Amino acid sequence: MNSTDMPRPKPGVMDIAAYVPGRETAHGAAKVYKLSSNESPLGPSPKVAEALAARNANLALYPDGSAHLLRDAISRAYGLNPGNIMCGNGSDELLGLLCQTYLAPGDEGVFTQHGFLVYKIQIMAAGAVPVSVPDTDDLTANVDNILGAVTERTKLVFLANPNNPTGTYLPVSEVRRLHAGLPGHVILVLDAAYAEYVRRNDYEAGVELVSANANVVMTRTFSKIHGLAGLRIGWMYAHEAIIDACNRVRGPFNVNALAITAGAAAIGDRAHIDRAVEHNEIWLGRVVEAVEAMGLSVTPSVGNFVLIHFPDTPCKTAADADEYLGARGYVLRRVAGYGLPDALRMTIGSEEANLGVIDALKSFMA
Ligand SMILES: *Cc1c(COP(=O)(O)O)cnc(C)c1O
Repeated sequence: MNSTDMPRPKPGVMDIAAYVPGRETAHGAAKVYKLSSNESPLGPSPKVAEALAARNANLALYPDGSAHLLRDAISRAYGLNPGNIMCGNGSDELLGLLCQTYLAPGDEGVFTQHGFLVYKIQIMAAGAVPVSVPDTDDLTANVDNILGAVTERTKLVFLANPNNPTGTYLPVSEVRRLHAGLPGHVILVLDAAYAEYVRRNDYEAGVELVSANANVVMTRTFSKIHGLAGLRIGWMYAHEAIIDACNRVRGPFNVNALAITAGAAAIGDRAHIDRAVEHNEIWLGRVVEAVEAMGLSVTPSVGNFVLIHFPDTPCKTAADADEYLGARGYVLRRVAGYGLPDALRMTIGSEEANLGVIDALKSFMA
């Protein structure tokens, strides 16, 4: 076979830089603490295991393609109309679905400089043009920069709020100003993967903006506070017209049977969610305080992770710290792919994991 006979991906696909997930392992360490993907140290609600056992699923049968049980549970938890909710195989699937549904070749999708990498990948996969917009110097999204990047070809604007990997957020007043500045044909996608963790009076995940407008989507996930990343469950809240369009494009059984059962049980367990929030509140503060006391700077975070900045002094760089911590079993996330080569992102873990990282970082910096 000569090379002109080879199958070739459509234009643009080979320009995509594949997503690199957080590492799972560390070599040479007896015990591994995975703090690289913002998973919950508390794991899922005990109600999830109960529900899965009680369901006694017949795995020969297709799941409910409309995920009614899960959509009803979400609508009860948030007081939303189930007709405005769509579930997905993780919110990543829904981000891709929005791109497949709304972006034609030549259209543009806008995202922020240090924003979640999935947006760029999915925009390019749809054959559209990825447009990255500069953040402020303190690693926060800038509404004026975003609005300045919008053209007639723009169809989607992605904002992770709070953002990963920076942990920064925009107050609701700024999100409203952003929406007010967008033409009606542009969809504002508010990715609120970490919303449950935020403890700020001026923060809103996006429910009200979606309810009042036909061009706003809020995406949420069960992978973070609900501790169900392994089952892949996400959902979005949007105007019926957007749900209807995406329903035509999505896979008919995109959420599996176990995910539907587990997600419905998880979202009903308010006490478990509160425990996860409380654990994070306590340890986010302690980790930041300890790391800053070592002379390292930390970007203020409202999520369940922190971005730690390292100096570029020899032997004290982010890459050196990553190696040092990894050898001791503490797996953090390098974020060079996010344009942050001098930083590591650390998920707030269990007490044991957090104290271990603090100890190890102290000896690394000494
Ligand atoms: C983790 C994360 C998600 C969630 O992805 P899932 O596919 O639901 O696991 C979405 N957006 C951001 C910004 C994230 O950090």
